[in-house]
Amino acid sequence: MTIDQTLMTKYPQVSDLAHEKPIFWRNPDYGQKVPLPFSRADIFDAVARWERFAPYLAQAFPETAKMHGIIESPLVRLDRMQNQWNNDHTSDLAGGLYLKADSQLPISGSIKSRGGIYEVLKFAEKIATTKGDLVYMDDYSVLASEKYHKLFANYGVSVASTGNLALSVGIVAATFGFKTTVYMSHDARQWKKDKLRANGVTVKEFDTDFSDVIPIARNDAAADPKTHFIDDEGSSDLFLGYAVAGVRLQKQLKDQHIKVDRQHPVLVYLPAGVGGSPSGVTFGLKSIIGPYIHAIFCEPTHVPSVTLGMMTKLNSKISVYDIGLDGLTAADGLAVGRPSRLAGKVMRTLLFGSVTFKDDQIYRYVTELMDTQKIMVEPSAAAGFTAIAPVIKEVPAFNTANATHIVWATGGNMMPESERKVDYAKGKALLTNY
Ligand SMILES: *Cc1c(COP(=O)(O)O)cnc(C)c1O
Repeated sequence: MTIDQTLMTKYPQVSDLAHEKPIFWRNPDYGQKVPLPFSRADIFDAVARWERFAPYLAQAFPETAKMHGIIESPLVRLDRMQNQWNNDHTSDLAGGLYLKADSQLPISGSIKSRGGIYEVLKFAEKIATTKGDLVYMDDYSVLASEKYHKLFANYGVSVASTGNLALSVGIVAATFGFKTTVYMSHDARQWKKDKLRANGVTVKEFDTDFSDVIPIARNDAAADPKTHFIDDEGSSDLFLGYAVAGVRLQKQLKDQHIKVDRQHPVLVYLPAGVGGSPSGVTFGLKSIIGPYIHAIFCEPTHVPSVTLGMMTKLNSKISVYDIGLDGLTAADGLAVGRPSRLAGKVMRTLLFGSVTFKDDQIYRYVTELMDTQKIMVEPSAAAGFTAIAPVIKEVPAFNTANATHIVWATGGNMMPESERKVDYAKGKALLTNY
């Protein structure tokens, strides 16, 4: 494959990406005022829908009952991990280090419990209010009844995924009673497929990359008017489900006395695959918390799809294969060669920048997080740690005692013990030979 020379002349960092070099890309359009396709009202509409469904979720998923059916993760201070980080690096991290532990979100154990579940709830509400007799002030736990289960069984939900989106959508859609089909790319782990099948979900397996699987799923769903396809490359509902995180994090920051203003910047490090979850979350954070919370996306050097799309402004019109990359990574949640149609466009003025990392780095952080804090995450979910050093090097103003650094740990709690052991051991070996 020949790499477009004009592209490389215009955007010199494309050449670094093509050579799998870890980079820091600073978004030149950050902070510009432009109209956006979504508003704060859209976020609050989603917040209200989650609340209407809380009684249903508390009943159908007992693990959410202690939070009264609200699906949210803790914000955890990482003092021991920060000491470790300071030991490993030449310059200390002056601000506080935190983990946003979406790895502990109920139902999928990943960030996909935000967007994926939200889109299923929205579809169920539409069916229940138009084909059933649900009204908005009802107690939605009625949706767990046999009557509604039968109604939902006339409809289908489908999705394509590298694993976690299928888990969140599949488990919830099947629990409602929808005929549920998931299309899994070659990266998807066996245990995720097994778990879905055990929940009554039809699992279709493909030996290709996510970007090739999604059109197949989309076409199949288009042939059936009663099937709702959850489109990870451009769904507004997924996006807004993720954006609710802005409202939730605002409260957690306040409760933990973390200031956000010009003198107290907050940096949020988010792993990006297709770009949907980090973009939705970033839109929520910027809309609700404001200009002094800054988002950084983190991607594998072999699959910098969102970075490439945003850097060249070609967004979903360019894939990592177009610059000769193989798209292969151990970070299965990030193994997406072509970015979403929505993410790059909405992020053009909202994303501070992005960072690319080598896979070995994330295994080291998985193991260090376990050793220091007893928190286990999946490899993709440790990607945020790789961005801290490049960011404070490029922007020394962010390395002050007043700054706060939040690594968004996007998944991991549902991993079987055997997988955890393998990932942990890989990181341990890398740290020992370091
Ligand atoms: C899906 C996922 C991501 C990235 O989200 P995208 O919407 O694909 O950008 C990151 N980490 C984990 C664990 C994921 O499952």
